[in-house]
Amino acid sequence: GLVKTFPLMKGAAFKRRVGSVHAVDGVDLDIRRGETLALVGESGSGKSTALFEIMGMAAPEGGTVELLGTSVAALTKRQVKQVRGRVQIVFQDPMASLDPRMTVGDIIGEPLRAQGADRAATARRVPELLRQVGLEAAHAERFPHEFSGGQRQRIGIARALSVEPDLLVLDEPVSALDVSVQAGVLNLLQGLKARLGLAYLFVSHDLSVVRNIADRVSVVYLGRTVEAGEVAEVFERPRHPYTQALLSAVPLPDPAAERRRTPVLLTGDPPSPTVRHTGCRFRGRCPVYAVLDGGERQVCETEAPALRPHAEDHVAACHFPRARDVIAG
Ligand code: SF4
Ligand code: MG
Repeated sequence: GLVKTFPLMKGAAFKRRVGSVHAVDGVDLDIRRGETLALVGESGSGKSTALFEIMGMAAPEGGTVELLGTSVAALTKRQVKQVRGRVQIVFQDPMASLDPRMTVGDIIGEPLRAQGADRAATARRVPELLRQVGLEAAHAERFPHEFSGGQRQRIGIARALSVEPDLLVLDEPVSALDVSVQAGVLNLLQGLKARLGLAYLFVSHDLSVVRNIADRVSVVYLGRTVEAGEVAEVFERPRHPYTQALLSAVPLPDPAAERRRTPVLLTGDPPSPTVRHTGCRFRGRCPVYAVLDGGERQVCETEAPALRPHAEDHVAACHFPRARDVIAG
């Protein structure tokens, strides 16, 4: 069964390893300081479900989720509070996640206040946080509607940074923004990560962004990892047909290379995650399954494929993991 682990506080190991997301059959994806692990999939692929399970905000569909080395079900209130302080979330839509009736200063200071900081200490910290995200101290007196989308996302980031977390969960942090302002926010995030020694769990459906920002990637389908590993390795040698299809939908900068490549096409939308599955969950949309003969198909219909290693830092869950040149021009 599926086991996701996130041992945030495993003593000495914590110094280097901020978290470990998702262990299936002994495969761990570590998030290290200064690194970004991306969780990718199309919308409806269960990225948020996987995220909520990892964060202990929803019961896992199968197996157990661990936080602080303890099963989420057994966490004490105090342990939950410790985790909340070390992990902060930045949401996709900054307007929906910022209270329009609060000043920016109050919004940014709120997590600090919730941790018991007094008004004076909070007021001292807010200008510094605003400058860290490229805004001005005077902005503390204003309200969210007075800012652009990109600025509002910077406010959300400042708020998340206020309690000095170790891990930032970035849930589609730039997908609600104009393309012209996305790069500014992504650069800011890269700089903050290096300067503050943060680690990121970056949830996104945008593979071009993931390629630029992530060190490692976990491709999610219906809330489960189907392929994972180092970004360059997975993007250059994808083994799972779902990853291949996602990658072949990313336009290539060179139009001649674009014409030469063979697209891997998916049919249909992801089924409801509540549907019970036997065998491979991807079967109904799988272009490889579609061309298998009856004898070969049987294993896809009866056995859920486990994640198996294909390279040093590369695993995929498919019974027919064919290498395909989907992005090379
Ligand atoms: Fe497709 Fe079968 Fe691989 Fe699933 S196990 S992705 S159905 S080929
Ligand atoms: Mg989502």
